[in-house]
Amino acid sequence: MADLDIHEPGDLTEAFSLLSETDGAARPMGGGTALMLMMKAQLFKPSALVSLAKVDPRFHGVELSADGGTFSIGAMTTFAELEHNKDLCDRLPVIAQTMVTLANPRVRNVATIGGNLAHADPHLDLPPVWASLDAEVSVIGPQGERRFPVIDLFAGYYETTLQPGELIMRLHAPVQDGWRRRYVKVTTRSAHDWPAIGIAIGVKMNGAQCEDLRLILSAATDRPTRLVEAETVLRGQTITDDLLAAAGKTAASEVHIETDSRGATDYKAHLLSVHLKRALHDLCE
Ligand SMILES: Cc1cc2nc3c(=O)[nH]c(=O)nc-3n(C[C@H](O)[C@H](O)[C@H](O)COP(=O)(O)OP(=O)(O)OC[C@H]3O[C@@H](n4cnc5c(N)ncnc54)[C@H](O)[C@@H]3O)c2cc1C
Repeated sequence: MADLDIHEPGDLTEAFSLLSETDGAARPMGGGTALMLMMKAQLFKPSALVSLAKVDPRFHGVELSADGGTFSIGAMTTFAELEHNKDLCDRLPVIAQTMVTLANPRVRNVATIGGNLAHADPHLDLPPVWASLDAEVSVIGPQGERRFPVIDLFAGYYETTLQPGELIMRLHAPVQDGWRRRYVKVTTRSAHDWPAIGIAIGVKMNGAQCEDLRLILSAATDRPTRLVEAETVLRGQTITDDLLAAAGKTAASEVHIETDSRGATDYKAHLLSVHLKRALHDLCE
């Protein structure tokens, strides 16, 4: 392996300087789980890794806003810290539910929320869940800070809309009382494997009527993708089995579904229509 410097800057100015010095060959590091795999596979050969562990206190901690409406989560928060945060899992149980089949305890102990988002592999489990919550990200770079919907972070396979030098600093997830939520991970091998499709669902019911909903597809598309037309089929309607079947069919035809080692386009489209209908049936009951 070529020489590799590992830095642990004590503030953001030093981190930005280290990241800019090497013309893109230095990379920020969260837990390092994705970086190490890519380096071992020789897909990626950085000259330096810049740990974000000590750059700024704002990269750490899970806080609930004073009005109880939004969780703010530092980018360096590990999956294990999230799954053991009782307050967060009580108010957003979909996070704990997603963790059950996400990797394994060794990975969850070190992988971070920020690294998970920035990696932008469309098969990751949490990004569609954050998108279904209408979560936002705060990013910081040499030019300053900006905040935008998390779904706009993803630009394609392993691609984000981060500008050179920008770092993910925090994630903001609304609690949204009254919504029912689920992440459906459909794997074709073991339960902890990468999904053939992932569907993050949020539904707000008013009696038998669907008041509002979010449907986000992952793993079948090159980025987490909102199923806008399927949402339109259901929004404002009284839920029936026929309507759920129509929403499943609409979902399977409204986006371009990719073939990969977990399944061909037609197969994934079928999985989507069946699993979306089934999950919505449970959630809307
Ligand atoms: C054995 C194994 C099994 C796994 N199984 C699953 C699974 O079932 N489901 C699933 O969803 N995931 C799974 N993963 C993937 C895992 O979720 C990712 O590897 C992890 O989320 C990456 O987080 P990290 O903190 O380790 O990122 P890192 O490896 O540190 O970084 C990943 C990328 O993000 C960049 N980066 C890191 N932090 C920031 C930041 N704050 N701002 C900007 N850029 C940043 C890095 O430069 C790099 O490009 C698995 C991983 C392993 C190793």
